[in-house]
Amino acid sequence: MQYNVGDIIYTKKKHPCGDNKWEVVRAGADYKIKCCKCSRFVMLTLDDLKKITKKIEKA
Ligand SMILES: [Zn+2]
Repeated sequence: MQYNVGDIIYTKKKHPCGDNKWEVVRAGADYKIKCCKCSRFVMLTLDDLKKITKKIEKA
């Protein structure tokens, strides 16, 4: 699976804010995603990103 900036990701587990929808804001050596509800950022590796992704909507 490929992730690009602007893609929307739905995670298996909900964020503490109650939503599970995230936007990819940085792709490369590390990935940075932003929670669409509370706007918090999380940095993670590609492997970790794959593990938590339930569904991806390509930009
Ligand atoms: Zn959140």
